[in-house]
Amino acid sequence: MAFVIVDYHMHLRDRHGDQPDGLYLLERVERYVAKAAEMGVDEIGFSDHIYHFSQARHLWNVPWMLARSGDNLDGYVSAVEQAKERGLPVKLGLEVDYSPGAEDAIAEVLGRYDWDYLLGSVHFVDGLSIDMEPSLIALVGVDEAWARYFDWLGQAGQSGLFDVLAHPDLVKFFGQRPDDDTTGAAYRQALEGIASSNVCLEVSTAGLHKPVGEIYPDQALLTPAFRSGIPITLASDAHVPEHVGRDLDRAIEHARHAGYETVTVFEGRRRRQEPLG
Ligand SMILES: [Zn+2]
Ligand SMILES: [Zn+2]
Repeated sequence: MAFVIVDYHMHLRDRHGDQPDGLYLLERVERYVAKAAEMGVDEIGFSDHIYHFSQARHLWNVPWMLARSGDNLDGYVSAVEQAKERGLPVKLGLEVDYSPGAEDAIAEVLGRYDWDYLLGSVHFVDGLSIDMEPSLIALVGVDEAWARYFDWLGQAGQSGLFDVLAHPDLVKFFGQRPDDDTTGAAYRQALEGIASSNVCLEVSTAGLHKPVGEIYPDQALLTPAFRSGIPITLASDAHVPEHVGRDLDRAIEHARHAGYETVTVFEGRRRRQEPLG
């Protein structure tokens, strides 16, 4: 059987692009597809941030998210669906912030479209940012930040809203970590929720290009995840076509080191395992 490389996390919207004109168009999707082909990636999945879309504005109260919530979700979905109709190897996903208590409202918005998969992310805990200054760590300390972050991640898994948890140890973004006992306890708590809820973990190369300079997640999280039978996806978290497939060879090596030999492929929120890269 052929080996498969997927990149299931990328954004049509540039992180710094304030002007959405031209973002959610077939022509832009095709640029990502072309880069994937060049990089030897078999299939890509789009996962723009739900908070950019006006249809989801009522779900959040984080000012940073609300200030960026003017795009039209219909336009995004339509651009990716047009590419699918043309036979391009793309999947329709969305990167969805988890917020305890908002599960039903989130499910209502998500239920309006036919996704191939949904990424669950924790970028904010109690309104405090994980990967921007002032960060949760700066405000509550590293031990407390890790405990709170992994508590929310485990709840995100258990919510049943998501197929994959994105950049699962994003809280290491700035490179600060508690001692091994504290990180181990946080991982165990999160993995309990994740293993019982049939959600995948994402192996993401985005962290290589952040202050921490490492793949998400750590081996100390990924190895017990493998032993618990939790499947994986691969991700570049590209925000421009040029970054599609970036460093996925390192993600594959990282996953193999933890024991993985298969990668998850999604279609209409159904999954199957294929030989890894
Ligand atoms: Zn993210
Ligand atoms: Zn992302």
